[in-house]
Amino acid sequence: GKFVYFFGGGSAEGKAEMKDTLGGKGANLAEMTNLGIPVPPGFTISTDACELYYENNKAYPEYIVKEVEQHLKKLEAQMEMKLGDHDNPLLVSVRSGAAVSMPGMMDTVLNLGLNEKAVEGLAARSGNERFAWDAYRRFIQMFGDVVKGVPHHAFEGALESIKMEKNVENDNELDADDLKKVVSRYLSVYKDAVKEPFPQDPKVQLWAAIDAVFGSWKNERADKYRAINKIEGLKGTAVNVQSMVFGNFGETSGTGVCFSRDPSTGENYFYGEYLMNAQGEDVVAGIRTPEKLSTLQEGSPAVYAQLVEIKDKLENHYKDMQDMEFTIQDGKLYILQTRNGKRTGQAAVQIAVDLVKEKMIDKKEAIMRVAPAQLDQLLHPMIDPSVMKEIQPIAKGLNASPGAACGKIVFTAEDAEAWFLKGEQVILVRKETSPEDIGGMNVAQGILTSTGGMTSHAAVVARGMGTPCVAGCKELIINQENKTMSVGSKVFKEGNWCSLDGTDGLVYEGAIDLIQPELSGNLNEFLTWADDIRNSAKREGVADGFGIRANADLPVDALKGREFGAEGIGLCRTEHMFFDEEKLKSFRIMIVADSKERRVESLKKIMPLQTEDFEGIFRAMDGLPVNIRLLDPPLHEFVPRSKRDIAELADIIGISKEDLQVRLNSLEEQNPMLGHRGCRLGITYPEIYDMQVEAIARAAVKVQKEGIKVLPEIMIPLIGTYKEFIPLRENAEKILKSVFEETGITVEYQIGTMIEIPRAALTAEDIAKYADYFSFGTNDLTQMTFGYSRDDVGTFVPEYVNKKILKADPFQTLDQHGVGLLVELGVQRGRSTKANLKTSICGEHGGDPDSIDFCYRAGLNVVSCSPYRVPIARLAAAQAVI
Ligand code: ADP
Ligand code: MG
Ligand code: MG
Repeated sequence: GKFVYFFGGGSAEGKAEMKDTLGGKGANLAEMTNLGIPVPPGFTISTDACELYYENNKAYPEYIVKEVEQHLKKLEAQMEMKLGDHDNPLLVSVRSGAAVSMPGMMDTVLNLGLNEKAVEGLAARSGNERFAWDAYRRFIQMFGDVVKGVPHHAFEGALESIKMEKNVENDNELDADDLKKVVSRYLSVYKDAVKEPFPQDPKVQLWAAIDAVFGSWKNERADKYRAINKIEGLKGTAVNVQSMVFGNFGETSGTGVCFSRDPSTGENYFYGEYLMNAQGEDVVAGIRTPEKLSTLQEGSPAVYAQLVEIKDKLENHYKDMQDMEFTIQDGKLYILQTRNGKRTGQAAVQIAVDLVKEKMIDKKEAIMRVAPAQLDQLLHPMIDPSVMKEIQPIAKGLNASPGAACGKIVFTAEDAEAWFLKGEQVILVRKETSPEDIGGMNVAQGILTSTGGMTSHAAVVARGMGTPCVAGCKELIINQENKTMSVGSKVFKEGNWCSLDGTDGLVYEGAIDLIQPELSGNLNEFLTWADDIRNSAKREGVADGFGIRANADLPVDALKGREFGAEGIGLCRTEHMFFDEEKLKSFRIMIVADSKERRVESLKKIMPLQTEDFEGIFRAMDGLPVNIRLLDPPLHEFVPRSKRDIAELADIIGISKEDLQVRLNSLEEQNPMLGHRGCRLGITYPEIYDMQVEAIARAAVKVQKEGIKVLPEIMIPLIGTYKEFIPLRENAEKILKSVFEETGITVEYQIGTMIEIPRAALTAEDIAKYADYFSFGTNDLTQMTFGYSRDDVGTFVPEYVNKKILKADPFQTLDQHGVGLLVELGVQRGRSTKANLKTSICGEHGGDPDSIDFCYRAGLNVVSCSPYRVPIARLAAAQAVI
């Protein structure tokens, strides 16, 4: 095999497509060379060599050593210089670069090849003694630091002492003689630390540097970076050995970085920074304040014009925004690196749209250019980036719901509501939240909990509401009684300000400036393109298209969903509707009633209110389908907990508090998620679903009479056998029919079911005979397939992910292999009895890009997610189709 690839003299053996082998840096150096862009010649040792190096116990097979030597000879011939030559020394850089860019994570050594003789040769040849000694001292420092781990500060100390002696502030005020002194001190710093003299043989230097670069592939930093960014399956880093050009040659030399467009806004504006008489990392390291490109334009218009020309050429060639490194040596421009630049979500959208308008890429390509998760940044308030640099978080938890918020701390939902009514902005802090807290959560700017995972109540509800949330923040000690929260020794009282960043899971002290994002014209246009692509999709064996809906329980959320582009409601949970005081009271009476008559009587009181809820949603959706799930949670979630509420309820129904407590206790279950809930309640307390169906029917009739089209879909949760479904469907149809007869108005409707119990998926062909559609409830399906309680995963799933037992939290990213198999099976088996059975997903996964891709491949017709994730889903769905 071939392990080394040459570039230089106008042509290269590699090209841009060879990133896997040459790394991004090497592949692009080759590509630029072939494009005729001035790139200093060199060669790239492939990632395969890196892989071999590790397989070979950190050594090289002889044939690789030979291939490198051959290429070095070729480079020397082309440059007409020799590594280590006393008269005309070749200097090289040894640069890392993997297939995926990992900025600053791995090592690079510059100015390699200098020794006590070569430095004299370089000085004489260049006629610039100061420059030669500057290069040598940089090399000793970098080699010592990168290859031998000599602490940076040891060298810095030596440099500082010389500057002090000379009484100057900047490095560039030192002359050749000063730098000679620096070199001699550096050499002793090196010898003291490494316990051997600085290597004078340039071949020894070269191989030690190559070793170090390969070694840096597995340094702690790089490992962590790959883990955080989920970079997997790479062979290793490549090594680029490249002839040096010198930005530190004098005042007509310099080095810089530039972006062909603004990476934070996306504006088509050539943006960059540079330093004259400097080398390599000086710009990034902040040794001096760099200049803006406009200064270069004034000072060296010819060089600037050439840079602009190259920037345009590269952007046109790669058809994307470029991030470039350049060096000017004595007025001559060289390009040392180019790559597609990293950018914010806002910039990603702006650039993609602009590139289409500039006819550089087509719409499909534009859609693929933006990562769906990046849109998140655009849809929530965020901490002002200019403030971000100056503040430190006090604690870190899970990034449960994105966006930033600030407010005064309150410790109960009641307080949140009361303070809100007084016009206060609050952050609700709880150990964990429960359905009773919903009102407080609704008015809070942000939610902070000390326990619970990504699918804890707080997290799910917050995401649904689009409220920023940091969950499971273990460092917080919450004292509910005293209304205090402490982090370490710092204590916060009720009313103290704090700020949350739900995008990163961070908590800050005090009120921090936020900026409000908006659904800009650009984003809108971009998403319409995504919709067009999605709507043009055709799949074999799948009758209908691929739609996006929103999960919404209230008219405001439904409107938000529509505003963000939802084509219907994919899940309207009815239980949240009961948390209004009036309904809750009647519902509680119903729960503890001892006779059917009593239950029916109190449900009658709820019905008109429930009807209004549905009317509101139907009106908000204005002709779009609304999938309403009948009551799902176990009844005990509604029971009163406080002494006052219990006393009040006992009073209303006319029994003693003690007797009431006995009835309430009887509702407690050992394992409520697997207990008396969903359709099981519908079977044992038919009057509950009857009331809900009647409310749906009456609302639909009323709204339709107003001239608005309604498309109710009635969904029965938690079906495990078709025998549960049959009677519930019959009951529902009886009620619908009677309402239609009574009013003389008929409304089109469907009755479907959730597939969320593994058995339902396994027997889907039976259920499909009776159900009009399926909606996969992947939260429960995951819970029951893994046997993980989704409210308790915080205790072990993070460790499972760390230990790689799980690739990701299955409640966040659908487990395609296991749970996904049940989804596929459910779809196939369902369609085996009903060929064009409509199928959808309404779990939390409906807003996760990878899961959306899976849903498309599995043949689902609809994904549904919280309103705020609808734009993300629209983009992810289009990408799935492409
Ligand atoms: P990173 O991946 O961390 O950016 P690089 O390999 O790009 O590391 O190199 C670090 C710095 O050294 C960059 O500023 C680059 O421009 C500079 N550099 C690398 N090789 C050379 C060279 N042959 N001549 C001049 N400068 C170089
Ligand atoms: Mg670089
Ligand atoms: Mg469920």
